Amino acid sequence: MNQIIKTKYLILGAGPAGLQMGYFMEQGQQEYIILEKEASAGTFYKTQPVHRKLLSINKKHNFFEEEEFNERQDWNSLLCNDKEMKFPNYSDDLFPNADDLLRYLEDFSSFYKLNIHYNSEAQHIEKKGDNQFRVTTKSGEIYEGEALLLGLGAVSAVTPDDIEGIEYTTAYEEQSIDLEFYRNKRVAIIGAGNSAFETANYLSSSAGFVHVLCRNPPKFAWETHFPGDIRAVNNDIFDMYQLKSLHAVLNPNLKKVTKLPNGNLQTHHEYDYPDSKVPGTLKLTREYDHIIRCTGWRWVNQSLFSPEIIPETKSNGKYPVMNDMWESVNVSDMFFIGAAMQGNDRKSASGFIHGFRYNIRTLYHLLVEKYDSKPYPTTNYSPFVWEEYVQDLYDRLSMSAGLYQLFGNLGDLLIFSEDNTQAKYYKELPISYMPKVIPPKQHVLSISLEFGFHNYSESSLSFLGPSDPNETEKAAFLHPVIRHQYDGKVEEFHFGDSLLARWDLPHGDGGAVVSYHLDFQKWIKKVVGLDIDIPKAIEGGPFYKWESKECTNTSETS
Ligand SMILES: Cc1cc2nc3c(=O)[nH]c(=O)nc-3n(C[C@H](O)[C@H](O)[C@H](O)COP(=O)(O)OP(=O)(O)OC[C@H]3O[C@@H](n4cnc5c(N)ncnc54)[C@H](O)[C@@H]3O)c2cc1C
Repeated sequence: MNQIIKTKYLILGAGPAGLQMGYFMEQGQQEYIILEKEASAGTFYKTQPVHRKLLSINKKHNFFEEEEFNERQDWNSLLCNDKEMKFPNYSDDLFPNADDLLRYLEDFSSFYKLNIHYNSEAQHIEKKGDNQFRVTTKSGEIYEGEALLLGLGAVSAVTPDDIEGIEYTTAYEEQSIDLEFYRNKRVAIIGAGNSAFETANYLSSSAGFVHVLCRNPPKFAWETHFPGDIRAVNNDIFDMYQLKSLHAVLNPNLKKVTKLPNGNLQTHHEYDYPDSKVPGTLKLTREYDHIIRCTGWRWVNQSLFSPEIIPETKSNGKYPVMNDMWESVNVSDMFFIGAAMQGNDRKSASGFIHGFRYNIRTLYHLLVEKYDSKPYPTTNYSPFVWEEYVQDLYDRLSMSAGLYQLFGNLGDLLIFSEDNTQAKYYKELPISYMPKVIPPKQHVLSISLEFGFHNYSESSLSFLGPSDPNETEKAAFLHPVIRHQYDGKVEEFHFGDSLLARWDLPHGDGGAVVSYHLDFQKWIKKVVGLDIDIPKAIEGGPFYKWESKECTNTSETS
């Protein structure tokens, strides 16, 4: 039997997630090993996305100088302290080529000398007793670790099992990218996500027509604010459909794909008309030269595990079911890192580098707290001086990239001492984890950034100016929400919009449309009972109240 290699934190996969966790482990001088099946890091990006253009922006020029503020617009870098190890050094493109990200990830792993064992494919995972995972690799090495961190990325493509003949179609990752192959051909694409529309865009100049067949109506990131929904950069096909340029986006009920004697494929699909004057179903067929399926990925490979530690999954096996620190709900000490973290977050960026890099930093601190009894890092205000704290708060709201990318998922927490003379500040805790550290009989402020479009029925595209500065609790764009909690009672304060997401500057310099500082201070004074010296209201400001005559005129004309 091979010698057993023991470690404390056993990380599987040297993709961006494994590298990011490895970086924090290395910085914290923790005992860890990363097992990677390939001979180098980040190899997902050798072949994916197949058309090579990343969806992650690399916006290098942001007017402001502050590094953390600029991190909000750099979606590809891993978190680190060295400027030369930031992704913008690798590309000038707003949507970079995947080869640049691959080069960056390889350099990152060697620059930080991360402890990666390459050519080590985990093949079987079991748990010995209560507290040791044992991983056997393809070549028979045995590793043991106290905590297992799974960063295995997109482990397999999902193939729909309710479309007969789906096996005749080509998987996204196996499609040819030779445009000559599709010249003047009829192509159908099954799917409604970015990979379907990325493929459609790519083929649109070459194919005779491209039909995207969506099971559910497509969702656009500009409407939902979820970066996993269809991004505008993949959107040409909608324009061409609406302008009748042969390409189309359709929503049929696709039942079957058959192979015709001439080698082409035929779809058998239906449209229902329940509200027609003659309710019924249109049953159609259409011939295509190629059909490509882009139907999503699974983020858990259940075949790796011994039966007693198969992690529970949801959404047809796509995502792991995790607790509020990304630990499997049924296998303790097994954590998911990287894109699989989206199992806990279907509204912000946990499925992407620009989101999970912050989740991983938070998880690192939670792990060290759990396994090394080192408390989660906090800043102490002792004594608590409001003027000092409020300056820090405005910096966080206006600079923090973690709160910004993981809106509504990660938040900061200020916990006052019982007599309000001191306070403790936590950064970027999972909001769902906060109840674990909130004492019942102390004043607490939780701080997050959140969208508010759910307050309105109109499309996000009708918000082409600031939302009503007098009803900030309905502010539509990303804005600070401060929640006060005491003895189970929660009250909240919403700042209004700031176009550039800064609340620390006057409006003319890029701040919010009006200063909400006075209202905020009054609210804090009321809910926490702090002795704050509130300055007299400054008369005027950019909001001009209508006289009753003007209100009447408006209602007459509207
Ligand atoms: C088509 C497509 C396009 C995407 N585009 C973007 C994008 O532009 N920007 C973005 O931020 N995200 C994008 N994503 C999401 C993307 O998956 C993640 O951002 C990122 O690659 C996930 O990082 P990860 O470390 O979790 O997984 P991965 O990058 O997939 O890394 C997993 C690693 O685990 C290794 N591995 C797998 N099995 C084993 C095993 N048994 N033993 C040991 N090692 C193993 C793999 O070789 C790999 O190195 C895209 C996803 C898809 C499917």
